[in-house]
Amino acid sequence: MRLLLPRILRLLFPGRKGPFVFERQPVILPAKPASLNLYIHLPFCRQLCPFCPYMKEVYDPAVSAAYQEALLQELESYRRLWGDVNIESVYFGGGTPSMTPEIIERTLSWIAGNFHLGHEVGVEVNPLDAHPAVISSFKNSGVSLVSLGVQSFHDRLLGLLGRDYDGKLARQASERLLQAGFATVDADLIFAIPTQSRQEVEADVETACELGVDQISTYPLLYFSYAPLRKQLHQARVTTPSWWLERQMLAAIVKKTQEAGYRRTSIWSFNRPETIRYTTVTKDAFVGIGAGATSKIGDYFKLNTFSVAEYIKAMAEGSPLALATKLDAGDKMAYWFFWRVYDLDIDTSTFQSIFGQDLPRRVRALLSLLKLLGMTQRRGNTIRLTEMGAYIFHLIEKEYTHAYLETMWQACLQEAWPQRVVL
Ligand code: SF4
Repeated sequence: MRLLLPRILRLLFPGRKGPFVFERQPVILPAKPASLNLYIHLPFCRQLCPFCPYMKEVYDPAVSAAYQEALLQELESYRRLWGDVNIESVYFGGGTPSMTPEIIERTLSWIAGNFHLGHEVGVEVNPLDAHPAVISSFKNSGVSLVSLGVQSFHDRLLGLLGRDYDGKLARQASERLLQAGFATVDADLIFAIPTQSRQEVEADVETACELGVDQISTYPLLYFSYAPLRKQLHQARVTTPSWWLERQMLAAIVKKTQEAGYRRTSIWSFNRPETIRYTTVTKDAFVGIGAGATSKIGDYFKLNTFSVAEYIKAMAEGSPLALATKLDAGDKMAYWFFWRVYDLDIDTSTFQSIFGQDLPRRVRALLSLLKLLGMTQRRGNTIRLTEMGAYIFHLIEKEYTHAYLETMWQACLQEAWPQRVVL
């Protein structure tokens, strides 16, 4: 079922119908794009959380310094290709980017000196780093959006997730970021944590709303075979929440955020009116810089090596590119459609202006069926998912994220230069 999802989605669009095959292959990048979105991966963490599926490693000052140079070399390779391109957005993710504000400061200064840097500059912040020196470094560097990895305000649940701070510190960190005047302060919360009750989920959301954060992002806890949490829980005989409890938790999050005046801006995010959404994954075209970074640009979806050591070496000797797959027109449409469904709004006129045609007949038939089933509503050119439609897509997104990370990321984490991955 899991790996079938991208294949089923492709059936709705014209072009190839087989699986996505990622291989090491030359990538032909497009001529200078009108603008670019950048994602920069900073993989260093103080300690490794047992639930974490991401590409990260424990901080080492010497490796971090070498990594910083390699990042600038990769950026320089794009500057040589495209010149002073407009950078619409830059997001630093990790890892724990806020641990290394000096890398963020220097990288942003380099980007501003070599490209045209816009105002959408986001950084993921660990509550332990939200102290005045780091915040003022971010402000001076032009960071405008911050995403605070709260996960929960409950000490017991933070302990279970292996986080090394408490709820009080998470509240203080939120307050400090809000006082600093960033355009958007997002709080990340995890739900469906083993032993967590619906009331605890509600209390976490209420706390975030009362603090006045601009955005709340909530993710269900997923278990990966290559992250130690599931084994630890099994050994401790701790059970995971049922699908029904998880559904109630999500419904409670939607209700609480609505009551507090937030608008649902994606399956898993809620914003105050008029705030800029902190979002990295939903951009339609982006270039990833750093170890483990992915790019969707021109006709390709590509991934850099997931090994920090190999990335540093590759930037000195050649290319960090590990795997790539070529996208045909139907793939690009499917990609756009998937993330607009995630955003809850599908604007058919935007599809027309990007792809020069209406949504394919099979997609329109599917949307009509979803409307009959009460999962979508149409307003003018926009089709919006209803709460029931959003719940179904929550299940699909969970399965897709799990399948993609289990297959692709696991392969890339096991081997610096995998030969081939089939999705
Ligand atoms: S959850 Fe965040 S802080 Fe924890 S190991 Fe993963 S990237 Fe690092």
